[in-house]
Amino acid sequence: MNNNNSSRDASAAPEISALVSQWIRPEIREIAAYHVPDPGKLVKLDAMENPYPWPDALREEWLAQLKTVAINRYPDPSAGELKSALRGALAIPDNQDILLGNGSDELIQMIAMAVAGPGRVVLAPEPSFVMYRMIALMVGMRYVGVSLTDDFNLDSNAMLAAVKQHKPALIFLAYPNNPTGNLFDQNAVLAVVQASPGLVVVDEAYFPFAGSTLIDWLQRYPNLLVMRTVSKMGLAGLRLGYLVGNEQWLQHIDKTRLPYNINVLTQLSAQFALQHIGVFDAQTRQICKDRELLYQQLRRIDGAEVFPSQANFILFRIAGCAAQDIFERLKSRGVLIKNLGNQPGLLKDCLRVTVGTAQENQRFLQALRESIC
Ligand SMILES: *Cc1c(COP(=O)(O)O)cnc(C)c1O
Repeated sequence: MNNNNSSRDASAAPEISALVSQWIRPEIREIAAYHVPDPGKLVKLDAMENPYPWPDALREEWLAQLKTVAINRYPDPSAGELKSALRGALAIPDNQDILLGNGSDELIQMIAMAVAGPGRVVLAPEPSFVMYRMIALMVGMRYVGVSLTDDFNLDSNAMLAAVKQHKPALIFLAYPNNPTGNLFDQNAVLAVVQASPGLVVVDEAYFPFAGSTLIDWLQRYPNLLVMRTVSKMGLAGLRLGYLVGNEQWLQHIDKTRLPYNINVLTQLSAQFALQHIGVFDAQTRQICKDRELLYQQLRRIDGAEVFPSQANFILFRIAGCAAQDIFERLKSRGVLIKNLGNQPGLLKDCLRVTVGTAQENQRFLQALRESIC
């Protein structure tokens, strides 16, 4: 090796920044990377995770099954057994097909790739789940956001006008919505589905907490798909989302899926968990109870505006108090939540707290009482 070589090559080569600007597409350069903070030792109430570990006996049984996995072999490419288990445990209509993703994030990407084309549009209400916009831009589609009303409902007139104007290939409606927590009015959703010339994906990521689903609409509306995930019900680490809908759509979307996207450990672990769905149902009921208590307690804080939630998180703001200040003070008191309030608009000074264990919720409330201006 000639030591001088590397420095000579470097001086002859174009600046890396010029190369990057030349070749990384402008829409990718402009996207702000999805930021996940390091929780360290903080009480983690920022990511809609289920706070409960598995009971010891269940964990032992699961580990015993994991020992049998052939880690040297590729997984079942279509994960047939897991699909049957999902169908059974989660009441998926028999006549609908299922497609699995490495998290529902991957499903959003797969659907977008399947419909992407020059000038084609993805439309979603705002504020909503940020990945709809990010993925639309990543696959080279145009993104149109339509503001919700002040009370976070769909603005029917604005949505219908935007549908007419942009003829979106794809619309995402989170039901319940993230980060607002509410279920959109069903008539407003229906109007969008009926007016839309393209696909409408109802994202039911918070289905376990919602007490409402639109999955039965699949029989009636040929342009509808329903997407869910096991993340929020307590299996966020597995990365498993599922898309439900007519086989005629799903057979093509399936072609954008990379082979073996659901690994062997996830397939086995999810099947195991679904055999014990009662454990997760009980945790979900507890989280819903604790959500109501947390909602009532938050409302008693001076200046608090607290938004009703059908999910496992609550959106709130404190009058006269910047979200950034509250966020930092909570963090210095050991509690991590999500700050959504730095920009003007509907979420100005809003923060989002995930419902944790009863003890975590009390720690959060105490820290919040000490953090308001
Ligand atoms: C969390 C979330 C997802 C992503 O879930 P994963 O399956 O973990 O990728 C999708 N949609 C909404 C609305 C969410 O809040």
